[in-house]
Amino acid sequence: MVIAWEDGHRSSYSAERLRWACPCAECRGEAGVPGRLARVKHLDPNELRVQDVSLVGQYALQVAFESGHATGLYTFVLLRALCDCAECQARRAAK
Ligand SMILES: [Zn+2]
Ligand SMILES: [Zn+2]
Repeated sequence: MVIAWEDGHRSSYSAERLRWACPCAECRGEAGVPGRLARVKHLDPNELRVQDVSLVGQYALQVAFESGHATGLYTFVLLRALCDCAECQARRAAK
């Protein structure tokens, strides 16, 4: 998946990277309870393939995986923070 930002920046994400970054309560955990992604080291291939991406309002993308998991709302703030191009890595390292 590739996002072309308004400022001209481009970010690309593998489905695997997006899956492991899923921000939903089930994956991340809530109220001090670890989520699923903290407990597993391996995800099935169908968990790691994107089936559909849809825009939620003006602020996020909902990513549906082939496994049927589609509860993660990836805000643009999160997506920008996930960008791991050389430029963003260098900016983060400088902080
Ligand atoms: Zn999730
Ligand atoms: Zn970047």
